[in-house]
Amino acid sequence: MGIPTPSGCQHCGVEQRSHARRWTEAAGWHPWTAPTQEQMKARMRARRAKVASFFGGARRRRSGTAEGGER
Ligand SMILES: [Zn+2]
Repeated sequence: MGIPTPSGCQHCGVEQRSHARRWTEAAGWHPWTAPTQEQMKARMRARRAKVASFFGGARRRRSGTAEGGER
């Protein structure tokens, strides 16, 4: 978890299907609210970045230990 679905609520990121009414500090009690275009884009970017860093990090860590002791 951590990153909400791109189409999740504008205030809390919960999907419309399972939203009902939720409370957040910023918005208080609210029904599901459509996210803005900017939010959707930002979430998609965040998701992609997270996946990339997961694979990149695993690869980097492996090669890092291999090169670590050389000198
Ligand atoms: Zn919400």
